[in-house]
Amino acid sequence: MDANFDSHFKDLFENTSDLIYFLSLDGVICLANPAWLAVLDYEPADAIGKSIYDFIHPRCIEEYKKVRRIAINEKCRKDVATTFLTRHGKEVVAEGHVVSTYESGNPSYTRGVFKNVTSRKIAEKKLEDSEKRLKTFFSSAPDAVIVINQEQEIIEWNPKAEVIFGYAADEVMAKPLADIIIPFQYREAHEKGMQHFLKTGEGPVLNNTIEITALHKNGYEFYIDLSISNVKMEGTWVFIAFISDISERKKTEQNLIFKEAELLQARLLEEKKDEFISIASHELRTPLTTIKAYSQILLDLSKEGTYAPFHGYLDKVDQCADKLNALLSELFDVSRIHAGKLSISRTDVAFDAFFTEVVGSMQHIIPTHNIVIEKNESCLAQIDVLRMEQVISNIINNAAKYSPGKKKIIVNSEKNDDTLTISFEDFGIGIPEEKIDKIFERFYRVDQTLRRFSGFGIGLYVSSEIIKQHGGKIWAQSKLGRGSTFYVSIPLSGHKQ
Ligand code: ADP
Repeated sequence: MDANFDSHFKDLFENTSDLIYFLSLDGVICLANPAWLAVLDYEPADAIGKSIYDFIHPRCIEEYKKVRRIAINEKCRKDVATTFLTRHGKEVVAEGHVVSTYESGNPSYTRGVFKNVTSRKIAEKKLEDSEKRLKTFFSSAPDAVIVINQEQEIIEWNPKAEVIFGYAADEVMAKPLADIIIPFQYREAHEKGMQHFLKTGEGPVLNNTIEITALHKNGYEFYIDLSISNVKMEGTWVFIAFISDISERKKTEQNLIFKEAELLQARLLEEKKDEFISIASHELRTPLTTIKAYSQILLDLSKEGTYAPFHGYLDKVDQCADKLNALLSELFDVSRIHAGKLSISRTDVAFDAFFTEVVGSMQHIIPTHNIVIEKNESCLAQIDVLRMEQVISNIINNAAKYSPGKKKIIVNSEKNDDTLTISFEDFGIGIPEEKIDKIFERFYRVDQTLRRFSGFGIGLYVSSEIIKQHGGKIWAQSKLGRGSTFYVSIPLSGHKQ
């Protein structure tokens, strides 16, 4: 071969950056230029005399063989892309051609001439990958992604934008953004902002996230989170908007605000109510004490003599003063409970005797009913006598009040291990099951009883607080229309019975 080289060709062969080699018809390397050897990191002795297919990536061998066959058979030059492998197994991507040479009309060699395009290919692959990633992101992004050009025409509109705004991409392409999604009240500001940006390169909305409303295809406005980035491409600005629909979040936030406002209002009302109760119970007491004192004097004076005919009336005034006083005491208790100031002072009491006495005096006050003590086990209890009397009178009063036309009220006092339980059974109107727990709440009264029976709905509330202070429980069982039983239990711990 050397003899056939003229000096120009030799120079070119040795100094070119192209990868050049000559192969015998069966593919053995006869000659390879320094560029090819250097790129693959081989010495001439490692390559000369070896098959070219030892240097080509296995996945490219078939294609390369086919191209060589055509070049030999059809006496033509064939372009081919292939991948060589370096001594260390690294891939070298090459593009070039194969051409056959002839001697006396017969094919004698093939010549391969290639350019190393590995770095270009890597760059192309990177670009392709990043474009693919961008496309995937664009089509599957959880946010709407809208791209507009400097003229504010929509140039990209991803699938999520279709969902959020209701427009398909081809409905909005090349249309002005403002006409599509910007509510009327913001259009002027948007236009001004855009002009300002084009003049100064500054825009307050750019690269920030703002909460704003947008227009849906169906004409309604809804809340979005909007952030816009800008980039200069080929001398003009392109704006990319990332938008998420936050209408649900907004709704929840607004509901929360409403609820909080309602709660605040309710709390303020409660506070006002408590303040009023506290002031009213205080202020009404003073004149009431005076009425009571004078009615007592007049009652005494009217026992006999000139004023005797008025005794009955004066007795009524006195009784009403007592009732009013009891009511004010309860109201006073409510404000005490609210202020955390309802305290009890306990003493040891023979409960059975105490119970008999309280029930006896209640019987005196309530002639309409027959209060029967069925069981009264003897036991010693530590109680606040006045407060416990208040609880018992309240429950018995209720039993009588809510069982008009019935006669009997059955009361019991039982001891069980370390607990004393007293119960009060009436045969009156009863309480609906779903209201039973509510009756111990402040100011709660069962609807049906509101008109027929007077009351404030605080007796049981105060009672339950008193029993709580005794470490006990209060509850009720009832059948509507058949009657109710109220229970109070307190611990007897510490007492040897
Ligand atoms: P008041 O009797 O002044 O309304 P209470 O706090 O004593 O207030 O009772 C709360 C509510 O519980 C009553 O309004 C009534 O609806 C119901 N209630 C209480 N005791 C009875 C009872 N023995 N039978 C039927 N309903 C009762």
